[in-house]
Amino acid sequence: MGEVRDCPTCGSLFSYSGLREVCGPCATAEEKKYDEVYAFLRRRENRAATIERIVEVTGADPGLLHKWVKKGRIQTALFPNLGYPCDQCGRLTVEGKLCGDCRDELENGLELFEAAKDFRQRIADSEKGTYHRGHN
Ligand SMILES: [Zn+2]
Ligand SMILES: [Zn+2]
Repeated sequence: MGEVRDCPTCGSLFSYSGLREVCGPCATAEEKKYDEVYAFLRRRENRAATIERIVEVTGADPGLLHKWVKKGRIQTALFPNLGYPCDQCGRLTVEGKLCGDCRDELENGLELFEAAKDFRQRIADSEKGTYHRGHN
């Protein structure tokens, strides 16, 4: 049983089967675009093309390119300048939701956060100690 959804590309209703996120005509158009993009990328001199360049040449939507990279339909091992934007800073990344820098920052931030929590806890404990001592 299908579920009726809005096509995110053209806004028309279509029955969602779980196989694709867009309506039939948009899916066909996407596939056509994919063939076009892939034909462009297959040429040796275009291996290092950037997303901007591909968009310029093929007229493909950058969001589509990001989606294909995410789904592994375009392999970044072959095309080193492709990726999709990091959730945090928008720079291109090829794995996870965040780029390497933001992942590092997040990890450092967490460590700092833990350290600060620890520190505050110790102060709170010692204050409590003083408080109790003062009143008992
Ligand atoms: Zn559509
Ligand atoms: Zn980032």
